[in-house]
Amino acid sequence: MGSRVVYLALLAAWVGALWWALDWAAAPKSAPAAVPTIQVSWKDFFTANVLPKLPISDNFVTPLRPPDGAGAYVSLPFLEQGHLGEDWATAKGDAALGEPVCSIGDGWVAVAQDFENAWGKVIFVEYRLATGRYPPSVEVMYAQLQEVDVKAGDFVKAGQKIGTVGNAGGIYQGMAHLHWEVRDTVGLGLGLGFSDNRDGWMNPSDFLAAHRGDRTGKPLQVKVLAPNERAGWGTEY
Ligand SMILES: [Zn+2]
Repeated sequence: MGSRVVYLALLAAWVGALWWALDWAAAPKSAPAAVPTIQVSWKDFFTANVLPKLPISDNFVTPLRPPDGAGAYVSLPFLEQGHLGEDWATAKGDAALGEPVCSIGDGWVAVAQDFENAWGKVIFVEYRLATGRYPPSVEVMYAQLQEVDVKAGDFVKAGQKIGTVGNAGGIYQGMAHLHWEVRDTVGLGLGLGFSDNRDGWMNPSDFLAAHRGDRTGKPLQVKVLAPNERAGWGTEY
């Protein structure tokens, strides 16, 4: 594939993302009053051309027990039951409460907010990928946190602690885990967590495996629990 084709594909993706973001920003915010709307202005984000100013991230690490996830478990994989992310924990029940949640790369915090619903405290971080990688950027959602150590507008480094594993303020009591999602564009919002439509959502473990810099090719050490191994682990169904 020629570089011009790649350039046009990236340009098309950006125009699409920009269109979506402006449309989203202009749309009436009809969310229920109990659910605060996202604080970041995607219109400002694009107007200020923030993304090209962000550091390029290539050496991605695991969000729990970085860099390789040794000692972490996946209790609900991507797309199982329509899951749009992965559930990670380091212990059964609520024993993972307080486990550090780390940024998977060098990025920029777009949202750090308590949504006071089943998502609890949520962080969105934007990561700009190296030239030639696709997509040009990803947005990662870290959800159901107990603590949040960053605020919107912060720059974070790969492996930096940004919060801790929670249970969404007790909504998932006895099921503490990190629900995290990787999106191929910005501004998809909180989302549903589960859906038959996965457009925009990427497999988190596959993303990590493909963007690990010097560790690419070295397997992740996180253990994926089989369905018959998940009793007592935090899952959402
Ligand atoms: Zn989940």
